[in-house]
Amino acid sequence: MIHAGLYYSPNSLKAKVCCDGRQKIYEYVTAKNIPFKKTGKIIVATDESQLDQLQSLYDSGRLNEVPLEFLSKEKVNSLEEEIKCETAIFSSESGVISVPEYLAALEEDIKKTGYVVLASEFKQAKKSKGQFELTLNTSDKINCTYLINASGLHTEDVANRIEEIDLPKIKKVMYAKGHYYLYKKKNPFKHLIYPLPNSNGHGIHAGMDIDNNLRFGPNAKWVDSIDYSFNENTLQEFCNSIKSYWINFDPSCLIPDYTGIRSKIVAEGEGGQDFEILGSGDHGLENLIHLQGIDSPGLTSSLSIAAEVIKKLGIH
Ligand SMILES: Cc1cc2nc3c(=O)[nH]c(=O)nc-3n(C[C@H](O)[C@H](O)[C@H](O)COP(=O)(O)OP(=O)(O)OC[C@H]3O[C@@H](n4cnc5c(N)ncnc54)[C@H](O)[C@@H]3O)c2cc1C
Repeated sequence: MIHAGLYYSPNSLKAKVCCDGRQKIYEYVTAKNIPFKKTGKIIVATDESQLDQLQSLYDSGRLNEVPLEFLSKEKVNSLEEEIKCETAIFSSESGVISVPEYLAALEEDIKKTGYVVLASEFKQAKKSKGQFELTLNTSDKINCTYLINASGLHTEDVANRIEEIDLPKIKKVMYAKGHYYLYKKKNPFKHLIYPLPNSNGHGIHAGMDIDNNLRFGPNAKWVDSIDYSFNENTLQEFCNSIKSYWINFDPSCLIPDYTGIRSKIVAEGEGGQDFEILGSGDHGLENLIHLQGIDSPGLTSSLSIAAEVIKKLGIH
């Protein structure tokens, strides 16, 4: 999903790079003819107790300059007749893109500049004469001027393998696993449908991929290891959430699909995680960038995070 930027605290790095990255990614996929749909997103308050939270979300979204409007129950039903809610907000800038085609296009762009894309594993690095000397799993060694640790769930482990790095600001990575269920009947929705967010994420929402397959997820459960097995005991949690906003929901149509794991640097239930881009002032090594806590909306923000990294390295 391409997020508009309403969930994140004003002045956070997430708010900045999500809003900027969202514009950049729509421009990029348009220029590259990569399939995308700016579907828009409806965020619903399903009962009166949620109205204050919906208002706060609207207020923080407007502070982030995200285009948003309140929708009455009647207006929601004119847009999506199977949705039940008290009221909702509409985000016109939310949408979906073809992620595999986006990643393939980025790889092509890198190769066109004459740089090489490797698929080998980083083992360790040390600094010598102003360069990083990297050891890979192939036992090849490569030298580079800049080193960017963007290894997702492995950022802490990779940092530990860089000689002479100062570790106090390198955060322990925790894992929040999310499940997705596919819905085996035709997607009745034209928009992304989201419940209100909670401290662990955006809530179990209805999303479609670029081929209009309807999928629900992700939930969020902190786990101790990187394990992508699908836990079907999550079904009830999904049914409870989905039936709170979808009138004609048929639980027998949910099919276990896949799981993903977000990289967390705050504990379960704490919320408010921000992206962190650490430079030499933080870890003591010139020309090394360490990214941590890049969970959602990391995809939406990717081009803007890249611009921040370049800025921090002082490359023009
Ligand atoms: C369930 C789920 C749902 C999400 N939904 C959304 C969404 O709707 N919208 C959105 O904007 N974002 C979403 N995100 C967030 C987004 O996917 C991440 O923010 C983004 O993938 C982070 O990118 P990254 O490059 O930092 O890390 P990753 O995508 O994790 O990539 C890290 C890469 O580093 C490689 N690596 C690790 N260790 C080594 C090593 N030693 N040597 C070589 N390579 C190594 C890994 O193989 C991997 O390819 C979601 C994430 C999850 C898990």
